[in-house]
Amino acid sequence: KNELEHAAADVLYTLEQAGYEAVIVGGYVRDRMLGRAGQDIDMATSALPEQVMRLFPRTAPTGLQHGTVTVISGSFTFEVTTYRKESEYEEYRRPGKVEFVSDLHEDLRRRDFTMNAMAMDARAKLIDPWGGMDDLKAKVLRCVGDADARFQEDALRMLRCVRFAASYALEISADTWTALRKHRALLTHIARERVRAELDRTVEGPDPDRGVDLLQASGLLQHVKGGLPLAPLFTAAAEAAPPAAPGEAGRLARVQPAWLRWAQLLLLAGRTQAEAEPLLRALTFPNGKAGAVSKVLGVSERLQQQGFGRGAWVQAALRFGREPLEGWLALAGADPAAAGGERGAREREAFTELTANGLSWLDELPVAKLSGLALSGGELMQAWNRRGGPWTGQVLASLLEDAAFGRVPNEREALLLRAERYREDTM
Ligand code: ATP
Ligand code: MG
Repeated sequence: KNELEHAAADVLYTLEQAGYEAVIVGGYVRDRMLGRAGQDIDMATSALPEQVMRLFPRTAPTGLQHGTVTVISGSFTFEVTTYRKESEYEEYRRPGKVEFVSDLHEDLRRRDFTMNAMAMDARAKLIDPWGGMDDLKAKVLRCVGDADARFQEDALRMLRCVRFAASYALEISADTWTALRKHRALLTHIARERVRAELDRTVEGPDPDRGVDLLQASGLLQHVKGGLPLAPLFTAAAEAAPPAAPGEAGRLARVQPAWLRWAQLLLLAGRTQAEAEPLLRALTFPNGKAGAVSKVLGVSERLQQQGFGRGAWVQAALRFGREPLEGWLALAGADPAAAGGERGAREREAFTELTANGLSWLDELPVAKLSGLALSGGELMQAWNRRGGPWTGQVLASLLEDAAFGRVPNEREALLLRAERYREDTM
């Protein structure tokens, strides 16, 4: 037992000594049975939230309406939830209402998959009424009880099903898969935020290629809320990817860091930067990530249009900054075809040179961004005795390009002199 489990056992014993039942449930139990060390321990107890709060000196009322109290013990925190069942499901989302119950088995019955419906007591005894352990051993993912009912209660479970099957290398049991395909249209009731979170974990998880295949085969993504056209991304990837040889990483899995796989999916589906950004935002990706991914597409577009030469590369650096270029290089190295590097023979050669030298070309630039330019907007305005306006940025961008390509030294006087040739355009 490690420190975390000792602290957890103390919490469980405290509840037991006060006359309640208490167990560890859910993901932690599952991962422990697989020999994986989890970080988060969730607990379930017969005690009511107020009884839990009275027993421990440090608690936080995390989700009282769901029966959840966070118990703080040293540097560890545990989510302790009163045994409950979800009596009503509204609009194919859970839960409409929770009802506290006294029986652990009743609590386990409302969970999604057998492997997630196991519990473990303070003495590490497994409580497994739904056969989760047998399923784990057989590498089978199966709904608790009636799969039709589980997916109708909460349509998000269908995406969780795909994620768990892919990330844990499980076969989905026949009845669960049949039910999933039957109820796939219910996904339309689920908030995009939650859809995004599951997809993100699938795409960025350990076996995204399997995830893509399952998503494609399920037809789930035809039914994202508001008709968001996500399915084509996954269809293209599923069709483009040859099955990986055993023991070899798949086409998406090879791409690291994992967020670049979103750029890869969009590229494989032929999406442009202008199409990608609103799509990612509509899927509720945070602005930072939507921007980072779509900038990689912007870089790719430019390079493909201009044949992967050094000039296009440097211009992309000035326009997008270094990060998306590094992203593009990582993607192009792992999946040259997605990055457009396998078209014509001449492109192929330029592409190879670019992927080999792109980073050093960036390092060798005399200046790569406006903040490094030896002339500021303020200085330019003063020298020309004019108020700032759109012209300032235009002139600075031209000067930056000149300095980056070495047409002018990156020095104040030289840049001011060079600026004269752009003065007319700004009048
Ligand atoms: P991970 O945290 O690695 O995604 P997890 O199993 O811990 O896996 P959580 O979302 O943290 O997943 O949920 C904890 C437990 O709550 C699950 O193991 C499962 O028993 C139950 N659970 C979570 N979401 C659902 C759901 N949509 N329907 C039914 N039970 C659920
Ligand atoms: Mg969890």
